[in-house]
Amino acid sequence: MRYVKLAGSDVPAIGQGTWYMGEDPARRGAEVAALQQGIELGMSLIDTAEMYAEGGAEEVVGQAIAGRREQVFLVSKVYPHNASQRGVPAACERSLKRLGTDVIDLYLLHWRGQYPLEETVEAFERLREQGKIRRWGVSNFDTDDLRELHNPDCATNQVLYNPLQRGIEFDLLPWSRQRALPIMAYCPLAQAGRLLQHPVLGEIAERHGATPAQVSLAWVTRDDGVIAIPKAVAPEHVRLNAAAGALTLSSEELRAIDRAFPAPTRKQHLAMV
Ligand code: NDP
Repeated sequence: MRYVKLAGSDVPAIGQGTWYMGEDPARRGAEVAALQQGIELGMSLIDTAEMYAEGGAEEVVGQAIAGRREQVFLVSKVYPHNASQRGVPAACERSLKRLGTDVIDLYLLHWRGQYPLEETVEAFERLREQGKIRRWGVSNFDTDDLRELHNPDCATNQVLYNPLQRGIEFDLLPWSRQRALPIMAYCPLAQAGRLLQHPVLGEIAERHGATPAQVSLAWVTRDDGVIAIPKAVAPEHVRLNAAAGALTLSSEELRAIDRAFPAPTRKQHLAMV
């Protein structure tokens, strides 16, 4: 597993997402087990949000990390409609309770909403002073949003990134690199849709005795400063995702991916899911 510096910690380049977890009590046991398996295999960064199953995903995470909190780098997110001076501390308190912890390592604004950025940042800073969060960051911010935010204390920007969705490479990624701002790549498997059927990923995978999903993760995390957060419940998926941390693509393979999924040649508005 490769490591990336995030918010002053060394975190694995491949962590674990939790969207759609916590929605069905019948699946809860499998979800908790998947996260625990992932932690054991080195994917000790867990990404969640108050939005996911309206707190249900945070509860799953809380159950998965009980007794092993110190092994995990925990990321959660506040809804934009809670991102006010009074809303942020209340939302954070609810998240802490569901997560069964007294501190969130990294707390993100999920996307921009109606509250002024300064107000949200001030509320984050207060939580930091109180020891309820260690660092804060943002999600779904385009380059202009980051310019407007203009705050060196922002620890990350979590955005959509996979071979099919490379828009950030035109300006957001270089801009972030110049400022040593790590990116958290969400949907690194493009939600297991047609990306994983692509013959080019299939050929590269075959050469490595790997799978297209593993090639996608190796590609997303090919350069320093990018953390992928695939979500997996199937035990085999968890195992493969962790193992992808050891997969390195050759420059010829990277060129083949560029031909199949061309990099942007002009500015694209930030895509979101
Ligand atoms: P992903 O790209 O991670 O895809 C998840 C899907 O891929 C699931 O169906 C999963 O199946 C499947 N899968 C996982 N591993 C493999 C594998 N090795 N081979 C084949 N299929 C696999 O999509 P997500 O939307 O979940 O994005 C990842 C995470 O990013 C989210 O869970 C969330 O934490 C975060 N996110 C953040 C957003 C934001 O606005 N900040 C927006 C969207 C996501 P199964 O579960 O059955 O194993």
